[in-house]
Amino acid sequence: MGNPCGLALDMSRSGLTVPGRLKEYSINRVKMPLCIAPVVPFQLMKLPNLYQDLLQRCIKKACSNCAKVIKEPALCLLCGRLCSPVHNPCCRESACQTHTVTCGAGISVYLLIRRTTILLQRFARQSPWPSPYLDSFGEEDIEMMRGKPLYLNEERYAALTYMVGSYGLDHISEVLNQTTIGGAFFT
Ligand SMILES: [Zn+2]
Ligand SMILES: [Zn+2]
Repeated sequence: MGNPCGLALDMSRSGLTVPGRLKEYSINRVKMPLCIAPVVPFQLMKLPNLYQDLLQRCIKKACSNCAKVIKEPALCLLCGRLCSPVHNPCCRESACQTHTVTCGAGISVYLLIRRTTILLQRFARQSPWPSPYLDSFGEEDIEMMRGKPLYLNEERYAALTYMVGSYGLDHISEVLNQTTIGGAFFT
């Protein structure tokens, strides 16, 4: 998360496609000591506006580790990898709990693709969080029962991002009150 060195290198790569003076500027930037870049604010991955686009992309996808189709895909919003919630992992590497340790240093945020809601994971602890996707009336449609198009609500997504970035998993009562250990959330 938020590695300033990684960001500087990415900028250099994208700079190569820019012609003329901008290109020079980008290349010069790379020569600067890489770690003086300012700390990047915490961000979650960019999501498509229409939920159905995301669903199409993630549903029936095979696990990148064991190649089995993931029954209940959970999209890691830190890195974009599809994982499995703890109760039914396709393999150990893709279990949310395992991935959270390697990807988010113990804290992760997953979008449960079949439910549209969020799963917060902090080591073995899990907690639900409302969906960032709403229908045109501003309502959630958990498990897409009504089947109407769902759109990303930027405000909700920003609130989620802020909550995670400000270590809300540790102190916000909405999270703590609903926290369970070891996947009991999926019963
Ligand atoms: Zn991840
Ligand atoms: Zn797997």
